[in-house]
Amino acid sequence: MRTLRNAFGTAVLVACAALLGCGSNKPPEFKGGENGEKVRVVATTTMIADMAKRVGGDRVTVETLMGPGIDPHRYQPTNEDRKKIEGAHLVFYNGLHLEGKMTDIFEKSKGRIRAVAVAEVIDKKDLLEADIDGGSHDPHVWFNVTLWAKCVAPVRDALVALDPAGKDTYEKNAAAYLAELDALEKHVRAELAKVPAGKRKLVTSHDAFGYFGKAYGFEVKGLQGVSTASETSTKDRKELAKFLGEHQIPAVFTETSVPDEGLKAVLDTCQSDYKHKVALIGGDEALFSDALDAPDKPAGTYAGMIRHNVKVIVDALSK
Ligand SMILES: [Zn+2]
Repeated sequence: MRTLRNAFGTAVLVACAALLGCGSNKPPEFKGGENGEKVRVVATTTMIADMAKRVGGDRVTVETLMGPGIDPHRYQPTNEDRKKIEGAHLVFYNGLHLEGKMTDIFEKSKGRIRAVAVAEVIDKKDLLEADIDGGSHDPHVWFNVTLWAKCVAPVRDALVALDPAGKDTYEKNAAAYLAELDALEKHVRAELAKVPAGKRKLVTSHDAFGYFGKAYGFEVKGLQGVSTASETSTKDRKELAKFLGEHQIPAVFTETSVPDEGLKAVLDTCQSDYKHKVALIGGDEALFSDALDAPDKPAGTYAGMIRHNVKVIVDALSK
């Protein structure tokens, strides 16, 4: 038994060493369009992958590490991920401690990978403070469309620096994407204006919507904090049930990347303690928070995801 355990311990150590990287000391060379080579991009989240595809167009291939339904706060990077990260010409990640464990790999692989934390270009004064997995700012910046648009520049600039022959393409693509995001921002504001002032309370599984609330005038509350890596207590659930009961909130929203058992327990407490029934918005109407839907689905793009969330919120809260 002891031998088995030792063997297992050694295997774990070897896997960890591999995960922390022991490959070449330089990022892979990009030879440009010489042999029709495309820029190999790796993105952590689906939102960033969508942006990289839009800006990179057909000069890039984009691989996503955390697909639909994946919670980045709890995600444990695999050996396969490390290989993808070290094999990429460019790695785009959110930063601001969104990627929990994966952030360690980026920091430890510095010099051996070209990694860009897209959300870290945002001016600190525009960031919300939060206590999260070793960081001090809320990482969910994509829920303010105007703020997310600021993350296009670092993606464009990194592509231009690596592949100067594609400069015109990247600049044209980025400008087109920014114009689309500008139109999206207008759509969001026009739709959300339909929710009456007294009903602007958005309650979700975890605190992903702080930027949404600040930008568009909603009070937001999550059962879990800004990261899902912490557990909720009975006290948290009772407090949220009280909030729902006292404000007669009609609906709360589940998220596709977070289990909904906790919210269900809150609604049961609200029903028994405050005699107030709250609708649980889930299934096809669950909000996309930290991951998009599959790429072939309407909410499989960033703009599609925002439109889906806004429609669900307006339908549930403006009744
Ligand atoms: Zn989150």
